[in-house]
Amino acid sequence: MENIEIQLKAPNGRTVVLPTGLFINNEWKSGSAKRLETRSPTDEQVICSLEAASAGDIDLAVRSARAALTHASWRDISAAERGQMLHKLAALIYEHKEDLATLETWDNGKPYSVSLEEDVPEAVACLRYYAGWADKIHGQTIPTTCQKFAYTLTQPVGVCAQIIPWNYPLVMASWKLGPTLAAGCTVVLKPAEQTPLSALFLAKLVEAAGLPPGVVNIVNGRGQEAGHALASHMDVDKIAFTGSTMVGKEIMRSASLNLKKITLETGGKSPLLVFEDADIHQAAEWAFIGAMSNQGQVCTATSRLLVQDSVLPRFLSALLAIITRTVVGNPFAKDTTQGPQVTQQQYDKILSLIGVAVKEGAKVECGGQSLRETAGRGRGYFIAPTVLSGVTSSMTIFHEEVFGPVLTVTSFETEQEAVRLANDSIYGLAAALFTRDVERAHRVPQLLQSGMVWVNSSNDPNPQVPFGGIKQSGIGRELGEAGLSSYLETKSVHLNIGAKL
Ligand code: NAP
Ligand code: MG
Repeated sequence: MENIEIQLKAPNGRTVVLPTGLFINNEWKSGSAKRLETRSPTDEQVICSLEAASAGDIDLAVRSARAALTHASWRDISAAERGQMLHKLAALIYEHKEDLATLETWDNGKPYSVSLEEDVPEAVACLRYYAGWADKIHGQTIPTTCQKFAYTLTQPVGVCAQIIPWNYPLVMASWKLGPTLAAGCTVVLKPAEQTPLSALFLAKLVEAAGLPPGVVNIVNGRGQEAGHALASHMDVDKIAFTGSTMVGKEIMRSASLNLKKITLETGGKSPLLVFEDADIHQAAEWAFIGAMSNQGQVCTATSRLLVQDSVLPRFLSALLAIITRTVVGNPFAKDTTQGPQVTQQQYDKILSLIGVAVKEGAKVECGGQSLRETAGRGRGYFIAPTVLSGVTSSMTIFHEEVFGPVLTVTSFETEQEAVRLANDSIYGLAAALFTRDVERAHRVPQLLQSGMVWVNSSNDPNPQVPFGGIKQSGIGRELGEAGLSSYLETKSVHLNIGAKL
């Protein structure tokens, strides 16, 4: 198919030219599945329709990734050149930041200022970080006997499948592509059907960054069809997934068909502990950011507040005062700090979980209702930032991931009780704690069952620091050196230098 591009006139007045096909082998192709329509969560209108991949299209993408893996244009270039390509891709993303931020906000609903000033820079920083790694990947020499030279080669894991969610479409693509390309792997990436647009624009930049055909393939499609085909494909070596725990389990089953390497970053219900010796104002500021950022649609959202009873009234009033600063509305409006939830499905789920919490005895301190009629003037998936107090560990809301702007507050008396409540979850992604006691700041992180702990902050990740969870929050790590190593295999070479039989 020839490259069919459409001109999209965005609500902020910007015109963005976007290809609609499947990006395979540095070419645009039509898909053989039913086309996808993507909607704006702000006005509920269809933005455009796009080509979607069937299992056959996925097979084509995997074959091109396989061919690229052993093609001289990728396999035989220097590691430094791979790094330069990643730097170029990062620079191109930055150059087109307004287009990318416009698509992200239109498709996902997050405020434009966040897309432009947080998400795009985060994607760029991640690619630059991994660009720096490309020529610093090496094995070891291992002493054995005088007649043997033993060493390890650190080689790309191979063809990688990557399935990403809708909450941070561009950032998640960069977290996946950075280590993959630094390691010398090739990739087939499937964005979420709810937010397919920014990844298509990213695909436009792949060839300009100098990446050879087949190294990066980006294919839109449905999870059950295209996603499943990728996860179960017999010629994919590794799968990296970010999304729900339920789908994560399904992916693990599919991956077992050919023992794919897997990394999963799934859900969470992360606690934030406020001890009485904390800076209460700082704790409230970070608690707000940690739970309400990105409309609460963050896997590491610290949405389960555990507050020592002696400071509960003071903390709660500080938090409620901060929440009044929230401006819910059109994400393209300058002063908006909270846009709509991503889909009707998510909107319904959040409101229903709030309803269940109230029925089970939680008290609504603020919010608790839809703002569709007011903030959205009758359209859009708007929900008021919500704080529920009096939540106990026997309530549904204490355990279920809401993935919306909802904070629960539970009180505790002792540190021991706080740790027990914090760990009372099937999840173990992140945790945060607030204290000015240096011993406690050192002791409690060791006791918390989670992959990450923020002390006196929340949800401020860095590309240099490993990110991921334990328990049902996932397998493996992204970011940092640990994130890179999941795209590498260690090959041991035993070089005989004189042992004769
Ligand atoms: P999801 O279904 O897990 O979607 C994540 C990705 O997996 C999407 O690209 C999806 O494709 C794909 N997928 C779905 N079914 C698949 C299958 N059988 N095989 C392979 N891939 C498949 O997440 P969701 O339904 O959008 O959100 C539901 C809940 O997941 C949220 O409420 C939240 O609790 C959690 N969530 C977590 C994260 C996170 O960062 N950890 C992100 C998003 C959501 P399609 O979207 O195209 O179907
Ligand atoms: Mg959309």
